[in-house]
Amino acid sequence: MNKAKIVIAGAGYGGMNTAVALSKKLGHNEASITLVNKHDYHYQTTWLHEPAAGTMDPDRTRVKISDVLNTNKVNFVQDEVLEIKTDNKKVMLKDGELDYDYLVVSLGAVSETFGIPGVHEHAFTKWTLNGARQVKDHIDAQFANYNNTADPHEGMLTFVVAGAGFTGIEFIGELSERIPELCKKYDVPREKVRLFVVEAAPSALPGFDPELVEYGMNLLESRGVEFKINTPIKEVTASGVIVGEGEEIKSETIVWATGVRGNPVIDQSGFEANRGRIKVEPDLRAPGFDDVFVIGDCALIINEEINRPYPPTAQIAMQMAKTCANNIVTLNKGGSNLESFKPDIKGTVASLGGKEAIGVVGSKKIYGGTANFMKKMIDNRALFILGGPMLTLKKGKFPL
Ligand code: FAD
Ligand code: NAD
Repeated sequence: MNKAKIVIAGAGYGGMNTAVALSKKLGHNEASITLVNKHDYHYQTTWLHEPAAGTMDPDRTRVKISDVLNTNKVNFVQDEVLEIKTDNKKVMLKDGELDYDYLVVSLGAVSETFGIPGVHEHAFTKWTLNGARQVKDHIDAQFANYNNTADPHEGMLTFVVAGAGFTGIEFIGELSERIPELCKKYDVPREKVRLFVVEAAPSALPGFDPELVEYGMNLLESRGVEFKINTPIKEVTASGVIVGEGEEIKSETIVWATGVRGNPVIDQSGFEANRGRIKVEPDLRAPGFDDVFVIGDCALIINEEINRPYPPTAQIAMQMAKTCANNIVTLNKGGSNLESFKPDIKGTVASLGGKEAIGVVGSKKIYGGTANFMKKMIDNRALFILGGPMLTLKKGKFPL
């Protein structure tokens, strides 16, 4: 009997959870499942602001894929996906190719730069494990160099975060908490360090609850963060960022967080997409393709209540994984009655560093220690769903 070949591209929240679900639902004889990912580990993208700021060891955010997956049931291939050839059902890799009967595209996102000049050359844009390491090492080096330079220049200890969305706010929360420790370690007076968050919209965290935004901004300002709101970044140069009407903020550290677009493989493969995200059918397949499912940050789904896309989140990626796995199992058994995906948004909680956070859970606003506790619970829950109590105990955030 010819077993269906299922290929899952990308081992993030979407891909890993699909692979785990399929390995539980399908027997050896029913299908062959292959997961392909750049690295032999999965990382918690939602934690990356912490290793980037240096408040967490990067190793804590990663999980070896073979520690979580049943490798008797899922064949793991470590390689980079370059392109998907839908005409002949192949995934082209850097070092080979994979044939598929069903494909799950779960390759995540990359930073959106909106074509602003200088971003790729002069800003840190990679929200990946290795990208986080680079940011942390650079920040530490800026401090280490400061007292070893004959002429410490302006911008050496000015840190600019581009974008006051959740990523930018969570990162500056961590960094602002770490600055006193860095100043002490490298004998740098605190007043030499400046922290900026530059935001184009009229408010930080646009669209989020205004009372919580105010709480968060006040807290961050009390740690020395300076907000430049309503101030689009126009250009990034070797010496800083150009904002508004041409004003320059001198900085040698620009951390880019102005939003995301789908993985470039989507455009490279010729799918119809909006900023690299495919507007998927309710059953999570790419329009016009019976055999290609697209989940996580590569997928675009509309919130009909407000007629706008849902923001791409891990919460949605994990829920999509469940629907996607169920639908593949149905198709594999010869069925055609596929589930429609409906996100179940439980809330949003953003950490602010230290023991602080803000969030909305259900219709309840939370902040401070309560929100911080909730954030850790959410982070631990993602581990639990992926790898059960053992993974949660090994990698989870404790004490709560
Ligand atoms: P990812 O989890 O990013 O996984 C993509 C995988 O594909 C990775 O393993 C990557 O290595 C691999 N890959 C990429 N390209 C290739 C290639 N060409 N070949 C092979 N493999 C490849 N969302 C929330 O819901 N809550 C939060 O608190 C939250 N916090 C966040 C904090 C930060 C700092 C950031 C950056 C994002 C946060 N998000 C949060 C958003 C969330 O992380 C994403 O929506 C989620 O990771 C998307 O899941 P995914 O499976 O689509 O992609
Ligand atoms: P985002 O799109 O949510 O925020 C980007 C911000 O950058 C926006 O406020 C935008 O106005 C601003 N911006 C855009 N262009 C700019 C410019 N030229 N100059 C200055 N500011 C500019 O993106 P994000 O924060 O990277 O988040 C990506 C996704 O991940 C979102 O869906 C978010 O909800 C999710 N996320 C969630 C959490 C959480 O739930 N705790 C944390 C991080 C990220």
